Amino acid sequence: MTVRTRFAPSPTGYLHLGGLRSALYTYLFAKKNGGTFILRIEDTDQEREVPGAVELIYKSMRQAGLFYDEGPDVGGEYGPYIQTQRRDTYLPYAMQLVESGAAYPCFCTKEELQQRRDEATARGEQWKYDKHCLNIPKEEALRRMQSGEPFVIRQNVPTTGVASFEDAIYGHVEAPCDTLDDNVLIKQDGLPTYNFANVIDDHLMGITHVMRGTEYLSSTPKYNLLYEALGWTPPVYIHMSPVMKDSSRKLSKRYGDPSFEDLLSQGYVRDAIINFIALLGWCPDVKKYGEKEFFTMDELIEAFDLSGLSKCPAIFNTEKLLWFNHEYISRMPLDEYQKMATPWFDKVLAGKNMDYTMLSTLMHTRTEIFSKVPEMIAFLAELPEYDIDIYTHKKMKTDAAISLKALELALPALEAIEDFTEENVKAVLMDLAAKNEMKNGQIMWPVRIAISGLASTPGGATEIAYLLGKDETLRRIRLGMDKLQSNG
Ligand code: GLU
Repeated sequence: MTVRTRFAPSPTGYLHLGGLRSALYTYLFAKKNGGTFILRIEDTDQEREVPGAVELIYKSMRQAGLFYDEGPDVGGEYGPYIQTQRRDTYLPYAMQLVESGAAYPCFCTKEELQQRRDEATARGEQWKYDKHCLNIPKEEALRRMQSGEPFVIRQNVPTTGVASFEDAIYGHVEAPCDTLDDNVLIKQDGLPTYNFANVIDDHLMGITHVMRGTEYLSSTPKYNLLYEALGWTPPVYIHMSPVMKDSSRKLSKRYGDPSFEDLLSQGYVRDAIINFIALLGWCPDVKKYGEKEFFTMDELIEAFDLSGLSKCPAIFNTEKLLWFNHEYISRMPLDEYQKMATPWFDKVLAGKNMDYTMLSTLMHTRTEIFSKVPEMIAFLAELPEYDIDIYTHKKMKTDAAISLKALELALPALEAIEDFTEENVKAVLMDLAAKNEMKNGQIMWPVRIAISGLASTPGGATEIAYLLGKDETLRRIRLGMDKLQSNG
């Protein structure tokens, strides 16, 4: 059997991280088994559709490296892959169910339903549809449907017995039929609900393994009743535990939790996000992989196995993601770093003609996340206000007086450099220290403070001076001298 899996998002907004993880596992499972991965857009709940969301899903899937073999924008033999474009597919199956008694049309109005719901609530009962329209003789029901009266089609769930299914992760799952509601299968607008469309499309698209979130565990017994009524073999079900923000709530767009897009635009690296997400609720076989934490997409495909999926909800730990991100950034080649960092450098340094390769060398292993880069290098664009106390440093053996002396010595020496390279700046400053019987730190520390305004910087005095260039370096040293003099 060729494995066919699908990721079936509803276009209700951005691709959230729980969705991304479902898509990833589904992709990994298909690829691991030499199967086919399909994208299907489930847009039958038109009221919840957010404009632009479909395109965002395509884009995010590509950015994530989750390339689907079949889907709305890539085609395939089982299309269309957008449910509203299949709208005529569903009613004939619903009518087949009406014919066999597994479904029935319902003409109850919203108001009638509301009234009976309120009455049930007042009696302290949990409301579920009371099968009111099941009593309408079939002939009459068909006549009313044809006359144009608004109707929905409901599943006729048996009132006794149990409905069940086998889940690859959760095992045997069952529900007493008398607790199950007669779900709407076809809505008044003629479109199917998710409850119906997922069954029809999974079957028609030849889906062998349905992978989705555990929020569908409780409805799946009902879906199995539909498979039975239609005489179809159900797929293998693999329900996946949710990704939680903390112990009490799921990650959700509603609470502003970041989407995949958000993480990318905050400067997280794609491969770090994928690696991190893959390990949220799944772990590779310890015997084979030990403590290995870093996986490329190909390695994930190789390692992916359903036995590693956890039943427990996974908690999204931003610290851990940040750690992964830092590791990925530190491990990438310098030129790749520079390419990714350039737009972030430009945010504060555009037009300054700074040596980005040197800057990349300084920033490479210090970058946890690209969005923090502009703040870290802002001192290169503009000297920040600083307190002269930072000139005093015990280990460097500096105080305000020594610092002033250092800057007074450094100014003409630096001014005399023709070719203002890092090596030349270094040679000159070291030479100054030696000639004046000062420690290197007694020159380097004050110079670095004067030209950066910071006690902690990426790179030392010589690299920063080189990056700033001669004029700006001298200007900042003069300012430092003024500050120290006016204090003294
Ligand atoms: N459209 C459903 C959702 O976005 C997908 C459920 C499924 O994969 O069957 O939650």
